[in-house]
Amino acid sequence: MDTMLEPVGCDLDARISSVMDVDEEILMRVSSDLNADGTYGQQWVIVSNRRILVLQDDDAIEIPLEDLKLAHTEPLVGGSRLELERVADRTILIPYSFTQALKFSELARGIEQIRKSEPFAVRMRLDRVRCEKCNRLLPERDGICPACINRLVVIGRIAKYLSPYRGRALLLALGSVLTTGAELVPPLITKKIVDDVLIPQEVSPGNLESVQLLGLLVLALVGMRIVSWGAEWLHGWTITWLGARVTADIRSQLYKCLELLSLQFYDKRKVGALMSRVTRDTDRLQDFLVDGIPYLIINGLMLLGILVMLFVMSWKLTLYVLIPVPFIILWGMIFWKRMRRFFTKWMQGWSNLMSRVNEALTGIKVVKAFTQESREIEVFGKGNAELTEVAVKSEINRAVFFTTMSFLTGLGVLIVWLFGGEEVIAGELTIGTLLAFYSYMWLLYGPLEWFGMVNSWMTRAFAGAERIFEVIDTPPEAYEDPKKAVSLPEIKGSLRFKDVTFGYDKSKPVLHEINLNVREGEMIGLVGKSGVGKTTTVNLICRFYEVDRGSIEVDGVDIRKIRLEDLRSQIGIVLQEPFLFSGTIAENIGYGKPGATFTEIMEAAVAANAHDFIVANSDGYDTQVGERGSHLSGGEKQRVSLPRAILNDPKVLILDEATSSVDVQTEKKIQEAIGHLVKGRTTFAIAHRLSTLRNADRLVVLDGGRIVEVGTHAELMEKQGVFYNLVQLQQEVSEIIAVKE
Ligand code: ADP
Ligand code: MG
Repeated sequence: MDTMLEPVGCDLDARISSVMDVDEEILMRVSSDLNADGTYGQQWVIVSNRRILVLQDDDAIEIPLEDLKLAHTEPLVGGSRLELERVADRTILIPYSFTQALKFSELARGIEQIRKSEPFAVRMRLDRVRCEKCNRLLPERDGICPACINRLVVIGRIAKYLSPYRGRALLLALGSVLTTGAELVPPLITKKIVDDVLIPQEVSPGNLESVQLLGLLVLALVGMRIVSWGAEWLHGWTITWLGARVTADIRSQLYKCLELLSLQFYDKRKVGALMSRVTRDTDRLQDFLVDGIPYLIINGLMLLGILVMLFVMSWKLTLYVLIPVPFIILWGMIFWKRMRRFFTKWMQGWSNLMSRVNEALTGIKVVKAFTQESREIEVFGKGNAELTEVAVKSEINRAVFFTTMSFLTGLGVLIVWLFGGEEVIAGELTIGTLLAFYSYMWLLYGPLEWFGMVNSWMTRAFAGAERIFEVIDTPPEAYEDPKKAVSLPEIKGSLRFKDVTFGYDKSKPVLHEINLNVREGEMIGLVGKSGVGKTTTVNLICRFYEVDRGSIEVDGVDIRKIRLEDLRSQIGIVLQEPFLFSGTIAENIGYGKPGATFTEIMEAAVAANAHDFIVANSDGYDTQVGERGSHLSGGEKQRVSLPRAILNDPKVLILDEATSSVDVQTEKKIQEAIGHLVKGRTTFAIAHRLSTLRNADRLVVLDGGRIVEVGTHAELMEKQGVFYNLVQLQQEVSEIIAVKE
């Protein structure tokens, strides 16, 4: 959500609208997590174009904008507070904890903009904690509200995944119908056995016809058993087959979508949570497909069939035995509503725990370096214990539920004996019918219980499905419509930044109005303090992120219009943090060009002056680099990523601190290599040792997110500006080091 409007519940909404004018516009609406006296609670600050409203539990303070003198935040111990100073009245203080700090500093900024009638430009991403529609707590931050999912739509979408397997789905339906039929018929046969064989036999024993009929009926029962066996077999077999196929399809589609999503998407998500979508949510969906949909059909048919049978046999008795049904349904609904709270808690706990595990294991080196293993274990233990508690509570609840359910069911069946027995005595019902009734009753409650349960159970499966669909529905990286996109199979290499402004968070630009013209084959050195936006600049060239304002052109074409593949495949990049995949050095160099021959790989390594270092390893090009390249040093990883970047003979070469982790000698070697690699290529080089950029055609100096100086090394040194100072500083530092040594 890119606005400062937190979702509110209906009652709060009513309170707000009772104060506001009809045509008033609410610009910001955020909640604090502390009460005015600093205890845990919630206060709301609502800012419109006319007033500020502070809502406490049962108190509301209204500040017309003209009464406001100043809004600012003030740090406190353990938190901060927003202070709204008024012209003629006391200052209003709204405390909040650190977790809310960012939001409130934006709020204060926004209020000041409105107060001074400056353009209102506060937009930030607030994590959604509650559902906008029903105001329930969400199981995951920014997640999906399980209660507000449109189930029909989800079922429809899941069903679409079945369409490639229509034949099997039909088989499944057939299996379901047969299974139901095979369950429904036997009570009718036993009825016949009692009424037409046993009772007449009692009246006139030794009747041979009756014995024959008995044999026939039992044979029919055997037949039904066989049908039932066959149908269940068919059913189980098709559903397993279908469930596995459909989930595999969904899983591949999900993974494909994850690969195609933009970096912006990943900036906002935790990898752990995304992984659980690929694993847990798809599994749950499979459960639903295997245990849900077929039983939905079977139990639905069953319920219908039984009711029809019962009504046909005796509508009066049927009405009696239906008496407990509303109670059973009610009980089920109450129970599953309770259970939903446990599920939500459980899912929340699980997702947090997994993110934590993911981080702690990825960062295991840091954990060990600071000897924080025991703390990590403790944190995990705590989360794990909480999860266990929720699980135990929900299991206990479940046990209570099922025992109560069978109690109610048992009572229902007793009704058959009482009222049915009466009818038999009155001669209105045969004993056989009574027995059939009795059997159907037992059959009836199964599906009923199932329907009581399925609602909430589907909710869970659907929440998983919905989380999967959310990823699938997120538009992939902004690929232009491939038909309209400009194809540039051979980039020449001129580059132009036109008024480029960009921020990872739109309200906080990192780069301001960058203008730069780069000729074909020119080498640009990008210089500036760390955090100034050098990496960001090259990110924009690769279109890892979209510019907020302005444009970047390659060969005079806006990169947003170029086919992304054409653009990226002709840019070679050495990332600031080189990442290698597990495998050999050769495989890593060849990563960007599947099918590259060994000669090509070696040539690239030679060109990058990395060949000697590689063959110095005992396994040479076949040296295993380990997961994430962890068997190589930082410098070695950089040396491998340079040949990887040039293997495709890119027209644009980007070196983001490509030599930051190597020793001076190696750096010299790499510099030499770079010296001839840049020929015929447009190059952007970022280096923290400024002297290495001496041979750049031009240096571009960034400061405060803006270009402050452009020129050759000599020009900038002569100018004695920002660059000169940076160089001076570096020299001083290296002199100090030299003296010490
Ligand atoms: P450098 O000049 O050292 O390469 P960067 O371009 O990496 O600097 O970063 C510029 C600014 O943008 C920094 O303040 C950094 O905190 C911020 N930044 C970088 N990457 C991200 C990101 N993925 N999300 C949010 N902010 C980022
Ligand atoms: Mg950087």
